[in-house]
Amino acid sequence: MRHRLVLTPQPTSPRPLELGPDLLKSLLLRHVRHCHSSRCATCAKLRTRIAAVKRRRALWRTFRAIARVAGVLALSRRRAACRVYAPGGVGYLQMEEEFEAMQREAKGAAVEKAEAAQREAKGAAIAEEVEAMPRGSEGAAMEEVEAIQREAKRARCGPSRRS
Ligand SMILES: [Zn+2]
Repeated sequence: MRHRLVLTPQPTSPRPLELGPDLLKSLLLRHVRHCHSSRCATCAKLRTRIAAVKRRRALWRTFRAIARVAGVLALSRRRAACRVYAPGGVGYLQMEEEFEAMQREAKGAAVEKAEAAQREAKGAAIAEEVEAMPRGSEGAAMEEVEAIQREAKRARCGPSRRS
């Protein structure tokens, strides 16, 4: 038995399609369930729409599943981080070591900087002293410097090699 939905308005009726939405829906569904015509435009449209809705629902299901997994993973990552970085944990100890190494490095750099500043200050003081010397006394100063150098050399070489 074949059900056919005929939606042609009756010429005698003043308002042709006075079917309630529920009745229209049930008639349409009954037609679609039993219609096997490949040329029926109504069924083709309905099948296209149903396929689109199914695709959208599948996408939405996939999205929800991914969101659920991401939430679970984020929570477990947070718990792991709390455990690892808690005092006494592996991450805590590693960070402690790293921090101390950085501190040592910073201390070394600061000491080096202070020593460089000291050397510079000493050099500036000597330059000032030389600058303050009266003109013409360079020869005497040079003699003094050479005497100091000779003394230093002698002290470095030692008395056994020298005598
Ligand atoms: Zn049909």
